[in-house]
Amino acid sequence: MTDRTRFILTEEEIPKAWYNINPDMPASPGPVLHPATKEPVTPDFLMALFPAKFVMEAVSMDRFIEIPEPVRELYKLYRPSPLIRARGLEKALDTPAHIYYKNESVSPVGSHKPNTAIPQAFYAKEEGVSGFTTETGAGQWGSALAMACQFFGLDCQVYMVKVSYNQKPYRRVLMELFGASVTPSPSEKTAFGRKLLSEDPENLGSLGIAISEAVEAAVTSNGQYKYSLGSVLGPVLMHQTVIGLEALKQFELADEYPDVVIGCIGGGSNFSGFAFPFVHQNLTAGKRTRIVAVEPTACPSLTKGIYTFDYGDTAEMAPIVKMHTLGHTFVPPGIHAGGLRYHGMAPHVCTLYDHGDIEAVAVPQLATFEAAVRFARAEGIVAAPESAHAIRVATESAHAIRVAIDEALKCKAEGISRVIAFNLSGHGNFDLSAYEAYLAGELQDYAYPEAEIEAAKERLPSVPQPA
Ligand SMILES: *Cc1c(COP(=O)(O)O)cnc(C)c1O
Repeated sequence: MTDRTRFILTEEEIPKAWYNINPDMPASPGPVLHPATKEPVTPDFLMALFPAKFVMEAVSMDRFIEIPEPVRELYKLYRPSPLIRARGLEKALDTPAHIYYKNESVSPVGSHKPNTAIPQAFYAKEEGVSGFTTETGAGQWGSALAMACQFFGLDCQVYMVKVSYNQKPYRRVLMELFGASVTPSPSEKTAFGRKLLSEDPENLGSLGIAISEAVEAAVTSNGQYKYSLGSVLGPVLMHQTVIGLEALKQFELADEYPDVVIGCIGGGSNFSGFAFPFVHQNLTAGKRTRIVAVEPTACPSLTKGIYTFDYGDTAEMAPIVKMHTLGHTFVPPGIHAGGLRYHGMAPHVCTLYDHGDIEAVAVPQLATFEAAVRFARAEGIVAAPESAHAIRVATESAHAIRVAIDEALKCKAEGISRVIAFNLSGHGNFDLSAYEAYLAGELQDYAYPEAEIEAAKERLPSVPQPA
């Protein structure tokens, strides 16, 4: 143990390979099924949608996959990211626990998302396509992909959930500044968007709808555009493992090893990127770290969702995968922010949860904000809330902070010193209106109704049970 606060690696210590968990999975994450035939997809189907290298990564059984040099060069803009001992927070909580956070908010766009946007753009460039289509909720993913496309001279077409397009002008400006074109979704640009608007011109959109539009735009582009997804898929989780691989080295510098590893989950990518290298140590090196995924009670896919086959999008155009899902038609009633939440969860995360290798907890909004404010006051960083709408908001990184604080308080009550590590997936400097609403006492807790989950069961695809 040292008295240092920041644990920093050199550029040379940026990992040279990503960790691919496929060969270490305790069970298969399940087949990927074609949305129409419900048969396992062919590589051709996936390669029409994604860059070929990306598809090959999805099925690879190599434990480590080399990071291409042009990608490592761009990682140098902000990696390695620091591991910080949260001494201010420890003092504020008066806990014997040692609390560490990996700070992914230091990337140019303020989140972990460039870790996968950069390799995806590199693969697309190598293939010679014109650019990417994608969706974005609050704009974190869209701004990361827009930046990466700009670096490689690619066009970037972003479908942004309409409620967010209208209410979050700064993220949109950031995407446009990086050269992307941003369309509010649902839009007139796609057949699916036109259908929805003819049924309801006031449709405010959802992430599932925006994915459908972006997929349709890529599929109908005659091979000019590929589609990019910023979370959920195996290769995306793998690209993010630079976070945990660096953290392992940084804990060596700190001469400690975490007892608990915590990450927030939206689609599962920052959590997986931070946690999978520690899961690897648990599975192969006899370590016994508790691995905890944290989600909001407003969108409890892992803790309350049904574990079954479901479509990746609302229009039923994206592949069907086995995951914990609230149903692909998911739109929480009465909350605008709901449109920014994903109905499913990364199949790898679901499999590990189902198998007991990781834990999951859902935390309510007010307790999350209370934790985020404590963290900001002790450490000086405002953690990212995903959405900032008037009535209720949903927070991201802040969920991990809530659970880290709860664990630290448990240590205090038990008089035990444990090492607690969480991933700070991004900062919330663009999202201060959420904090404004919290400080003004305008927010309430919200739990997604169980009845809605029951109702969503009826709209699940019927899939022949694989042998
Ligand atoms: C996108 C995002 C998330 C949620 O996505 P995951 O794939 O679950 O990581 C969390 N935090 C921040 C800052 C994000 O931008």
